[in-house]
Amino acid sequence: MYAVPSAALKTRNRQAVTAFLYRNDQATKRVLETELGLSLPTITQNLRALEHDGLARRGTPQDSTGGRKAQTYAFQPRHRAAIGVAIRPAELTICAVDLYGAVIANIRRSLPYTNVNAYYQRLGGIVNGFAADVEKAGSAILGVAFSMQGILSADGSTVSSGTVMDNTGLTLGTVSQSVRYPCIMIHDSDASAMAELWFDPTISDALCLYLERRPGGAVIVNGRLYPGPNQHNGAIEHMTLVPGGRLCYCGQHGCMDAYCSIETLPEEHESILGFFSVLEQGEQQHRRRMEAWMDYVAQVIVNARSVLAVDVIIGGEAAQYLDDDDIAQLRRRVMERSAFGADAFELRKSRCTDNQDIVGAALRFIADYVNAICGTTSPLSAAEPA
Ligand SMILES: [Zn+2]
Repeated sequence: MYAVPSAALKTRNRQAVTAFLYRNDQATKRVLETELGLSLPTITQNLRALEHDGLARRGTPQDSTGGRKAQTYAFQPRHRAAIGVAIRPAELTICAVDLYGAVIANIRRSLPYTNVNAYYQRLGGIVNGFAADVEKAGSAILGVAFSMQGILSADGSTVSSGTVMDNTGLTLGTVSQSVRYPCIMIHDSDASAMAELWFDPTISDALCLYLERRPGGAVIVNGRLYPGPNQHNGAIEHMTLVPGGRLCYCGQHGCMDAYCSIETLPEEHESILGFFSVLEQGEQQHRRRMEAWMDYVAQVIVNARSVLAVDVIIGGEAAQYLDDDDIAQLRRRVMERSAFGADAFELRKSRCTDNQDIVGAALRFIADYVNAICGTTSPLSAAEPA
């Protein structure tokens, strides 16, 4: 007679089978038996349940030694999806990501931002419509995460500093008033850093610098995002670079944003893309502008590393134009200006994936779900380490 497994053991077995399929895409019963040390009946029973719940499906049979092809079972990454939304001054960008963090659908809608209920109702309509299409294609929606350009309150419920979008005091309740799914807000730089961590779990400690039109930063400590008690660790954009210098949108003078924003590179009436194509042709004036910009960015890194001497990841729109030589040159400039000279540190480009912050925001829901079905703890889940 079989001993009836306890509920906890049953859960653990199911999580072990799910986690193995998740990590390896697919497996045969024999492989699961060998790798997990579970009995064949237990594996069969769990696979049946996972198939029933839509988490696994039968894959292509594999050749096996016995002559008969062995049935494989594949993880179903589109069983659930999460949605990320970037609210920007002129438009709305929405992505749906699957359980591996891959973008499975995305749309961009022109929708000029105004901090009024009518805007959030329009936004809700667009998000609900997009989500319905994703659900129709077979992926149930876990939730909707908004990547915000402002700093958030510690509990993530309010924009505590929203100068860029002029929405200080905006609450999650207002943003999500017409959205039919669970919603959260995440600071855009933190969201980008979460994508960084998801796609490269080997990152331990790093300073992420996102050179966007409105630059920002994030801090990773012990393989986790470390936004700090006030949620603005890494808010490098308002570090004073030039005392009494150019006026920043925050009202102060000489902030990093006013010197390192990618918008400071083009000449008047020139586009950012235009600037880089002229630079490519070797135009001297553009070269000088680029050199000055690189000096400012290097100084920001030196200043930041004087407090937190860790590796640096450079991302954002500007990073897409920087090649390996530019990154090496930037690192050289940092070394030349550093008090301790050539200490070992890595400066590298971010993954720079399209819509990185939007994907990173959505990953908050994905990470929690994957942790639950696989019985794992991911560095991306909202809970702080014990
Ligand atoms: Zn500022």
